[in-house]
Amino acid sequence: MDTMTYDYTTPTLSPKGQEMRDLLADYISVISHRLPDDVTAKLQELQKIEVDPLQKLVYDTMMENQLLANKLKRPSCQDTGALQFFVKVGAQFPLLGELNQILKDAVYKTTKQTPLRHNAVQTFDEYNTGMNIGDGIPSVFTQIDGNSSNIEMYVYMAGGGCTLPGEAMVLMPGEGYEGVVRFVMDRMTSYGVNACPPLLVGVGVATSVETAALNSKLALMRRVDSVSENANAAKLERLLEEGINNIGLGPQGFGGQKSVMGVNVVNTARHPSTIGVAVSTGCWSHRRGYIKLDKDLNYELPYNKGVEL
Ligand code: SF4
Repeated sequence: MDTMTYDYTTPTLSPKGQEMRDLLADYISVISHRLPDDVTAKLQELQKIEVDPLQKLVYDTMMENQLLANKLKRPSCQDTGALQFFVKVGAQFPLLGELNQILKDAVYKTTKQTPLRHNAVQTFDEYNTGMNIGDGIPSVFTQIDGNSSNIEMYVYMAGGGCTLPGEAMVLMPGEGYEGVVRFVMDRMTSYGVNACPPLLVGVGVATSVETAALNSKLALMRRVDSVSENANAAKLERLLEEGINNIGLGPQGFGGQKSVMGVNVVNTARHPSTIGVAVSTGCWSHRRGYIKLDKDLNYELPYNKGVEL
């Protein structure tokens, strides 16, 4: 049988494009071994709440894992995920035309240098490209944001286990927001344990499956302790957090006081005849980053205090 290979040639990038690619490759490497500050703080908080030896042991192991991952610069989890980028870019950002190539090449580069596990399988052809890039992967969701010359993006390593509980559907309007709660709780009681709790649960509400699904993923990009600006969505976050904690998944599904790091809801306006709802989950090793760059590639890393690339 012929061995199939993915045809990839490193693109010819401008000098500035190469600079941005190298910065992003280095940042993805950081994300792979250092959890964002909010996740670390939350895990430390949850660790103190658990009282039984087994749960304490699980948290101690997570903490030691992170200490070693940071020290040795080795991935926090063996599943380094499929890379996803959620980008907001101003129309005047000078590298806009090269952006997709820069992102793809950054993933290629960091896969070799970090290294990252190979997680891109060409669908139906069923071979692993060995590079974490392939048809349509990494996933890039781009929004043109006004006329500025800046760019900001969330970078997410979507692991298999934490992606597994994801689901989207469209509810009849009569099902109301009670239907949203039922949908999320059904999913969490059947698949939540697969995602290596404590979880960050992202809930999206919109018109259709794809708009709700994107919202649920954007919800995972928010800080674990953040609260929706919409009072009713904030109430839903609180109630769902209580409800999912009451399932008693505990750290790594061994039972315990808390099942989640948080629940974030992102909602957009919807068609009056539908309630699109989706859920996405992040695991305890929630590797997402956030980088802001100006036109000269001066950067800020709001989720990673003290990190320099
Ligand atoms: S769910 Fe997260 S921690 Fe668990 S195996 Fe997957 S990526 Fe790793």
